[in-house]
Amino acid sequence: MAFETEPLFRDDAYKREFSGQVLGVNGRGGIILDQTAFYAAGGGQPGDTGQLSRADGVTIQIGATVYGEGKGEIVHVPMSGDNLPEPGETLSGAIDWSRRNRHMRMHTALHLLCSLVPFAVTGGSIGEAESRLDFDIEDAGAVEKDALSEQLMALVAKDHPITTRWITDAELDANPGLVRTMSVKPPTGSGRVRLVAIGDDGAIDLQPCGGTHVRSTVEIGAVSVAKIEKKGRQNRRIRIRLDDAE
Ligand SMILES: [Zn+2]
Repeated sequence: MAFETEPLFRDDAYKREFSGQVLGVNGRGGIILDQTAFYAAGGGQPGDTGQLSRADGVTIQIGATVYGEGKGEIVHVPMSGDNLPEPGETLSGAIDWSRRNRHMRMHTALHLLCSLVPFAVTGGSIGEAESRLDFDIEDAGAVEKDALSEQLMALVAKDHPITTRWITDAELDANPGLVRTMSVKPPTGSGRVRLVAIGDDGAIDLQPCGGTHVRSTVEIGAVSVAKIEKKGRQNRRIRIRLDDAE
């Protein structure tokens, strides 16, 4: 039976601490709560790490967060099988904020990159130190590393707001241009899809996305294009990095 977890990160990406009740512990020791601020891996963004604490103060280190049976169930994967909680217990949770915040900055920067490179996205992934998007680009000369870095930083400096709103599956079907990623289908089926807008009314970028983002582009900080690689005849992989990375 799949449980239903309220994803607190969806409405508040800045929530670092929360408490939740244990709904169950699965066969592999994964802990399922009624609500969580831990982002579950998806859309190229890694799941959160952090800790869950029991009422007696014992902490359980969480090494990964994933979806369980269906997209409604979020599973916190402990790093050890010791001290597993019982259903009904209330746990307090804290996500590893420095890691997650970097994912948020990176994720938002990838939206900006997407807005600057007018080609279809075929894949992507987010990391703490480096992230990438793959584009279907026939003309290799269409993108240039230094120019792209400058354009990215110009958008960051403009302090564009990032907001979300919900539309129905039907509205999305009527606007196929909203979907930039060919490999990652937007999460339809629940009847509604979350749109992430950058700039007033999505003037800079507007696309369906379930990930976590910063509130304003200026929070991304210093970002640059690290590398543009050729991957196959038409594929270009663009790697970006946050310039405060070690
Ligand atoms: Zn996103």
